[in-house]
Amino acid sequence: MIASGSRLAESLFWYLLALTGCAILLFEFGPERVLDIKEWPLSITVQQPRDAGPGAVRYQPSADDHPGVVCTLTANPASYPSCGLILTLTPRDKGINLTRFGTLHIRLSVTGAGEQDWRLYLRNYNPVYDRVDEPEQSKFNEIIFRPADYGRDHEVPLDVFTPATWWITRYNVPLQQQGVNLDRVYAIEVMAGSDMPPGKHGVVIEALQFHGSWLDATLFYRLILFVWFLYGCTVFLINHLLMKQRLQHAHQAKLEAEALNRTLSEENRRSREEACYDALTGALNRLGGERLLLEIGEQPCTLVYIDVDHFKQINDSHGHPVGDEVLKLLVSEILRHCDPLCHLVRWGGEEFVLVCLDYDELRACILAERLRTLLEASAHWPLALRVTASFGVAERGGEPWECVLKRADEALYQAKTQGRNRVVAH
Ligand code: GH3
Ligand code: MG
Ligand code: MG
Repeated sequence: MIASGSRLAESLFWYLLALTGCAILLFEFGPERVLDIKEWPLSITVQQPRDAGPGAVRYQPSADDHPGVVCTLTANPASYPSCGLILTLTPRDKGINLTRFGTLHIRLSVTGAGEQDWRLYLRNYNPVYDRVDEPEQSKFNEIIFRPADYGRDHEVPLDVFTPATWWITRYNVPLQQQGVNLDRVYAIEVMAGSDMPPGKHGVVIEALQFHGSWLDATLFYRLILFVWFLYGCTVFLINHLLMKQRLQHAHQAKLEAEALNRTLSEENRRSREEACYDALTGALNRLGGERLLLEIGEQPCTLVYIDVDHFKQINDSHGHPVGDEVLKLLVSEILRHCDPLCHLVRWGGEEFVLVCLDYDELRACILAERLRTLLEASAHWPLALRVTASFGVAERGGEPWECVLKRADEALYQAKTQGRNRVVAH
């Protein structure tokens, strides 16, 4: 899941990079948006100057049907209306948004003598101040052709168009509205300029195209930026979720490891504990006893060595299982009558050491005597046997355990030699 998530982010990155590269190449060097006026459903009319006589203006397309007009001027035309050609693109209050285009590709050819300054107007409708009943009021965005410009292809940036100054003056256009406007161009006009000499002048629009990008450059690059921003957010989100999931897994694994560790420690503790107890009797075994003595350290203590009298005879006469039962009963009887300060260790075979913490010799002797009497008098021995034990008592006087044990063993030996079933202190 984690690996596939980061693989997805990585392939998405390369995919997006390739897509961005292609989009930029296509945007910068790909086909342009073209509006060819010849292919537009135009209505073509001619414009008569106010003082024009009959036949002074004639629509005259070229041999290959490019729109054209021939004007016979008697005097310098006034600024507007002049003689010319009107290509109406849409109803006046509708218009085409030419701001999506960057350049105008145009070629005009002229006939007639003298210097001709034909003007090209892009007529733009503005609902804020245009009066519907006065077409002349719509803005004149203009460029002026000079004699050298005819018969040649021109690529004119649309931002070189300027509103005609006579139009600003005539209609008292407020400052805020004086700039060029190409967002609702409803007509393209080619009009004779005011400096043209009297005579016969003709003009043909051989080419008229608007070129531009399919998308506004700012919008395009903003879109790319937005896509990358979206990608960044997505990758961040994916990483965040994956990290969260990874942390959850790690936390879960940690909890499981801790639980396992606890179980193992518990099992370990239990098996270590079990290793310290004698399986038959439940008393501490020799290992448990040695550990206990180590743990006691310098604490005052008295040892009581206990040995079953003539135990071999019990085994021999009644069998080992009976001997085992005797040992079990012996341990349970001793433990039942000892306080928690006393710990019973099976030192080996039928020999036991009772470790009595904070007991002095006298107190240990009293306890041993009581145990001896109890064992002797017990009516619970298997087969109603009579079982006794001998006790050797030794109080620890700061010497090593081996010495105390040795003294207790010697006391036990004395108890045995003195006739068994007795307590001897050393
Ligand atoms: P004493 O009065 O001098 O102590 O004589 P005893 O017979 O008790 O001593 P001895 O050392 O001669 O015999 C101890 C016997 O204890 C020998 C051995 O077979 C027996 N024994 C040791 N461990 C066990 C055990 O776990 N079960 C049984 N049933 N017998 C055991
Ligand atoms: Mg014995
Ligand atoms: Mg013995």
